[in-house]
Amino acid sequence: MKSTILDGKLIAKNIEENVRKRVYDYEDNYNDNITLATIIVGNNKPSKTYVKMKTEACKRVGINTREYSFPTFTTEGLIQIIKMLNDDSSINGILIQHPLPEIIDEQKCFDTIALEKDVDGLNSHSFGKMSFNENAFGAATPKGIINILDFYNINLEGKKACVVGRSQILGKPIALMLLNRNATITICHSKTKDLKEEIKSSDIVIAALGKPEYIKKEWLKEGAILIDAGYNYVNGKSVGDAENPEGIASFYTPVPGGVGPVTIATLLENIVTAAEKQKELIQTKETKGKQYIKEEI
Ligand code: NAP
Repeated sequence: MKSTILDGKLIAKNIEENVRKRVYDYEDNYNDNITLATIIVGNNKPSKTYVKMKTEACKRVGINTREYSFPTFTTEGLIQIIKMLNDDSSINGILIQHPLPEIIDEQKCFDTIALEKDVDGLNSHSFGKMSFNENAFGAATPKGIINILDFYNINLEGKKACVVGRSQILGKPIALMLLNRNATITICHSKTKDLKEEIKSSDIVIAALGKPEYIKKEWLKEGAILIDAGYNYVNGKSVGDAENPEGIASFYTPVPGGVGPVTIATLLENIVTAAEKQKELIQTKETKGKQYIKEEI
C-alpha cells in the first residue's frame, strides 16, 4: 500500500501564516499588542527547550512573550503569580510548562488560570467545556492532531479509533475530541490486556504512550491511519512512540515533522483567538453599558 505522509511542517506553516495575518489585524484594529506569559519552574532541560521553541514561534508571528522562570517555587507562590497575570489586561494568554516539580500541585495551578487566558487548555473547566463540545481552548497537542486530520479532510465519523495513552494533556482530551467528531473510541493504557488486538481492529491509532517505537508496524491494520504524538530521543535521533508504518498505513505523521510543529502552531492559534475574544468581550460590555445608560435616561 502507498502511504501518504501527513506533513506537519506544511500544516504548521499554513496555520502560522494565518495567525500572522490575524495578529496584524488585531494590532491595526485595537492599536494593541498580543502577549503570552510563560511560566517555567525548575531546571528540566526539555521544558526549557519547549518554552524556547514556543517563544521563538510567538516572535515569528508578532506575539510578545513575558517569561516567568523560577528555579524553585511553592504552589501558593505560583498561584499568586497566576492570579496577578489573570488580572493583568496586557496579558492575553498564560502557559505553564508541564511538568512542574512534584512538590507543586500542578492541577491546582492550571485551575487558577482564568478560562479566557487558558491557551493551553489545561484547566479542569476548559477540559469540561471541551468534553461537552462547548467553546473552550483545547490542549495544543490534541487540538493540533485534529488540525492535522482536518487539513487532510479525514472524515472521522463512524471510524474506530484507538488512543494509546490516557494522560490529562494528551490521551484523554484527544479521545474526547475524536468522540465529538463521531468516531468510536477505545482508550488503552498500561493495564490494557491486549493492546495489539485493540490496535489491529482500529481505523485510526493515536500513539501517545511515551515509549520509543513501542507500537509495531505489523500491529496496524492495512490502511489504518497512524498519528504518532510521541517524541523520544534515542541514540541522538528523535523517534515516535510507533515504528514507521510506511507501506501499511494509508496516512501517517512522521517523527519529527508531524504532530510536534502543529502543536506549537495550534498554541499560536489559541493565543490570537484568546486576544480577539477578550477584546470582543470588552466591546460587548461597553456597548451593553451604553445601552443601559440610554434606557435609564
Ligand atoms: P504520560 O503522561 O507519561 O502518559 C503516558 C500514557 O501512556 C499513560 O496513560 C500510560 O498508562 C500509557 N502507557 C504507558 N505504557 C503503556 C503501554 N505499554 N501500553 C499502553 N499504554 C501505556 O505521557 P504524555 O505526556 O501523554 O506523552 C505521551 C507521548 O507524547 C510522549 O512520547 C511525549 O513525548 C509526547 N508528547 C508530545 C507532544 C508534542 O507536542 N508533540 C506534547 C506532549 C507529549 P497509565 O495511565 O496506565 O500509566
